Amino acid sequence: MRLSRSGRRSSWEREHGVRRSVSTPLQTVKTHPGSFIGGARHRNAGEPLPVVNPADGRPFAEVQAASQADVDAAVEAACAAYPAWSELAVSKRGEIVGRAARHVAEHLEELIPTLTREQGKTLRDSRIELTRAIDTLMHYVGLSKALRGAHTPGLDPGVDGFVLRLPLGVVAAIVPWNFPTTLLCNKLAPALIAGNTVVAKPAGTTPLTTLRFAELLSEGGLPDGVFDVITGTGSVAGEALVSHPQVRKVAFTGSTPVGERIISLCAPGVKRVTLELGGSDPMIICDDADLAAASSAASMGRFYNCGQACLAIKRVYVFASVADEVIESIVSKAKRLRVGPGDAKGTQMGPMHTAGGRAELAGQVERTLAAGGELLTGGGAPADPELAEGFFYGPTVVVDPPHDSPMATEEVFGPALPVWRVADLDEAIERANASPFGLGSSVWTKDLDRARQAAARIEAGYTWINSRTKVYDELPFGGWKASGYGKEHGEEALEYYTETKSVVIGSPDDRP
Ligand code: NDP
Repeated sequence: MRLSRSGRRSSWEREHGVRRSVSTPLQTVKTHPGSFIGGARHRNAGEPLPVVNPADGRPFAEVQAASQADVDAAVEAACAAYPAWSELAVSKRGEIVGRAARHVAEHLEELIPTLTREQGKTLRDSRIELTRAIDTLMHYVGLSKALRGAHTPGLDPGVDGFVLRLPLGVVAAIVPWNFPTTLLCNKLAPALIAGNTVVAKPAGTTPLTTLRFAELLSEGGLPDGVFDVITGTGSVAGEALVSHPQVRKVAFTGSTPVGERIISLCAPGVKRVTLELGGSDPMIICDDADLAAASSAASMGRFYNCGQACLAIKRVYVFASVADEVIESIVSKAKRLRVGPGDAKGTQMGPMHTAGGRAELAGQVERTLAAGGELLTGGGAPADPELAEGFFYGPTVVVDPPHDSPMATEEVFGPALPVWRVADLDEAIERANASPFGLGSSVWTKDLDRARQAAARIEAGYTWINSRTKVYDELPFGGWKASGYGKEHGEEALEYYTETKSVVIGSPDDRP
């Protein structure tokens, strides 16, 4: 037990808006040594970081942070494992990953409460997330027999061309706290199948599920060193990993400002980078839409995971002629949502992940309302005294705030939804595109022409038509503009974990 009793806030506590509770009973705080390297738990040299339960604001575990030397050890383990792993037949890699993923699936019931306790989401959402993560691993296991290069016969008489597809080497996977396991597996699955080895860094606030996930993959037969995990802060462990000269590619999911920093860290050595960054997804509801279905999708899309999802309905533009009905329906759904601890029976929306995140959201809503707009529900922490210690924020709906207010122009990463009345599709698309982000988007209409127009003109990596915003492993996913570049999911993801090489066999000059 190494929690500070000084009463002073550490820099980590200030950054994350939490406080190591001095009243926490000693026996409830479990200490973890830190990383998972070369198939075993590894004791990090850095200071212990608390893992806080967002539902009561108390630390229940602490995990030692990785130092530069610990990061070096993880990259060395991944380098050592690389030759044997990359030389296996692709189908053999698929077989091994598949067996390991099935072993994780057998331990789902153990992982679910851990994820809820460290992240805050409901047990139901933890089950959905973990099941999705394993599904993604299995999707790429299935694709392992489809990884192909190309052959171009007859480049010249007697000359053939081949395009080989080869792994990159050691890949760094940097993952945020909102979906610690799905966002990990989006990177891990294609990277491993393609023959790379991976060192992952989960967010400092959600290390536990990832560590156990890695341990289970190892128990399930993934060879030592093929997948390593380092814990710690982004500024120390994250930067050391990204900057490591033997890391060939960085796959990052997180905020746009940190993504920009990652690009600069990857410049030396010209490392490969894919960036899945922030979003501010617009939803357009036309006057001919199924209004009940659209309102449900808006509520689900905004309040799922307590609004802390990159892909989420973050701005609604509804035709003025049907706006009152839609707004009333969304507000009534928001008011009915049962907010509570993620592990409490009947909870539909858990707390936000950190006090800092909640304060940021509250600030965005306050600054927006100061500029204009009408608050129809929410706008602060719920009144229930039982929730006072947790990082709760009530489902919030604001109507017609100014188009240059924070809720219109910034990413809103919490359960607060702005809704605007618009005249027609042209205005809706213009407003939708007036954002620095371009991740997801959705359009609700029964008119095929409107649907086609919107799909072609909205600047985003995904457009759903009359559909809630569900991501499919089969389709490539990635942002435009400040939402990043590169793709995850789909066969396309494999391209981001391989290099192609052209090979010419035979020479035209050899022929008489
Ligand atoms: P951050 O960018 O702050 O952190 C993401 C990860 O990067 C964490 O593991 C963090 O570690 C690490 N990190 C932070 N600074 C550095 C650094 N200098 N070098 C290396 N690693 C670093 O994101 P948030 O935690 O705020 O996550 C939410 C953001 O993620 C939102 O903007 C959201 O939209 C985006 N996101 C995007 C998705 C997409 O697919 N496009 C999906 C989900 C979320 P630590 O936390 O320990 O400091």
